Amino acid sequence: MEEGRSADNEFESVDFVREKVKSDIAADRFHGRVQTRFPPEPNGFLHIGHAKSIYLNFGIAEEFGGTCLLRFDDTNPETEDTSYVRAIQEDLEWLGVTPAGEARYASDYFEQIYDWAEDLINKGLAFVDDQSAETISEQRGGFGQPGIESPFRDRSVQENLALFRGMRDGQFADGEKVLRAKIDMQADNMWLRDPVLYRIRRIPHHRTEDRWIIYPTYDWAHGQSDAIEGVTHSICTLEFADHRPLYEWCLSHLDLPGDTPEQTEFARLNITHTVLSKRVLRTLVEEGHVDGWDDAQMPTVRGLRRRGYPASALRDFVDRVGVAKTNSTVEVELLESFVRTELNEIAPRRMAVTKPVKVVITNWPEGQIEWFDVANHPNNPDLGTRSVPFSGELWIEDDDFKLDPPPKYFRLTPGREVRLRNAYLITAVDAEVDGDGAIVQVNCTYDPDTRGGNAPDGRKVKSTMHWVSAEHAVDATVNLYDRLFTDSHPGSEGTDPLESLNPRAKEICHAKVEPVLADIGVGEVIQFERLGYFAADLDDPSVFHRTVGLRDEWANLQKRKKK
Ligand code: ATP
Ligand code: MG
Repeated sequence: MEEGRSADNEFESVDFVREKVKSDIAADRFHGRVQTRFPPEPNGFLHIGHAKSIYLNFGIAEEFGGTCLLRFDDTNPETEDTSYVRAIQEDLEWLGVTPAGEARYASDYFEQIYDWAEDLINKGLAFVDDQSAETISEQRGGFGQPGIESPFRDRSVQENLALFRGMRDGQFADGEKVLRAKIDMQADNMWLRDPVLYRIRRIPHHRTEDRWIIYPTYDWAHGQSDAIEGVTHSICTLEFADHRPLYEWCLSHLDLPGDTPEQTEFARLNITHTVLSKRVLRTLVEEGHVDGWDDAQMPTVRGLRRRGYPASALRDFVDRVGVAKTNSTVEVELLESFVRTELNEIAPRRMAVTKPVKVVITNWPEGQIEWFDVANHPNNPDLGTRSVPFSGELWIEDDDFKLDPPPKYFRLTPGREVRLRNAYLITAVDAEVDGDGAIVQVNCTYDPDTRGGNAPDGRKVKSTMHWVSAEHAVDATVNLYDRLFTDSHPGSEGTDPLESLNPRAKEICHAKVEPVLADIGVGEVIQFERLGYFAADLDDPSVFHRTVGLRDEWANLQKRKKK
């Protein structure tokens, strides 16, 4: 199957990583120990793909009586920052996982990793190369193309040691020399063609400051950090499968303090209409397409949190998708259905009008206000009730009234009777329009015998509408969201994902909401009847983000597929 293009909903029933851990324990491998780690690079915020890796690593540790560490893979001073370190720790906490002990940092191991590099040199397994990065990369060759050995490959151990120490001590300029492993320039696996282990970079590091001017590459730091910490199962995504022989080569030549860790790869999470690449997410932020990493439209943990996604729904979703050996893409509707299912249980119901049009009830007693006691949840009485005011002037949604209704339009139109939810039956009489033909006011009458919304004579109406009393309404900003990317696989086939950015991804509405919402707390999620689930913003609770709509689009997709 072509990577990224498949919409594979046949989820793995057996999780091969857990099977492997189980059989390792049974075989007393690693002396029966299980230790995993989550190793983010502190160069951006966590996204839902990371959440998958987090729940896998922490889940396995928990299920098999092991431990899971948080290790910052901070070997690249150019892009990393302490602010990301803190943000990642907060996100882990919100996701509900607790790393064993203090956070670890690959940079804490720089001394040991350096010593091991000298060991390699002493064994004749590493050398200092004076060639430029471009030359080294050209000489690497490719599949079916031979590699070219560096003219510096056969330097003596003494010379290599002296030069490598010189690199560390500042005798050379950035890029002037690198340390490379001496493996095999004709290896089928490109990663074994004398990979670079150290580069000179005079860039202050967010933790080691200017103590180091040489930095180990990912391949020279990762397995070694695993070994130092005592990791048994080093779980990573499939793109590292090709690196595994190098991971194993490095560890096999070192004097390790304990068991040799083992790398296992699983398929990364991909979701339709969603980009899970920090590089692209950073571009969205830097070019101002979103308001920041924590914008409610971002698939970051912070974005989803602002959007109102419960952490438990993320976990359930990740569990359901499972752990696969081949890459595929999950439909975003599945994620949304997990969120909707959970919110349906817990979210109090409220009324809000996103695009208000005024309704005047012409036979309403002047100045009268009625308060309705309305259940907060249709089938959870524990959520209690609230008082909702009703008066002679109300707001309704503009598309709930039409002067010239199309066929099968059952909502309000002159001469038609409808129900105002929990209140009364009303009948539209006429409407006032402005110079542009826009409706500015709908005049209606109400039937005083229909209090609560039912007619004593049993007559039926075809629609029920939400409303807010104009006099009592509170102003709010309601953000409606569509897909951020119109393409189901943004960036596939080498295209620029930003080309499919949806110009109508966000619609800002100046809404009228019922008065209890003036007291809503930051981050609380409610259902606006007929409109969907909405989260009060984390900074300003008068702003609401639509979390998900009410319709189960996942179920619809499944039905369509069966046809
Ligand atoms: P990106 O590709 O978005 O830049 P990254 O993989 O470079 O992310 P890291 O900070 O290195 O970011 O990732 C930390 C861990 O999360 C790694 O083990 C990585 O394999 C895992 N991870 C990253 N993206 C995904 C994903 N989409 N699905 C599952 N795991 C992921
Ligand atoms: Mg990475």
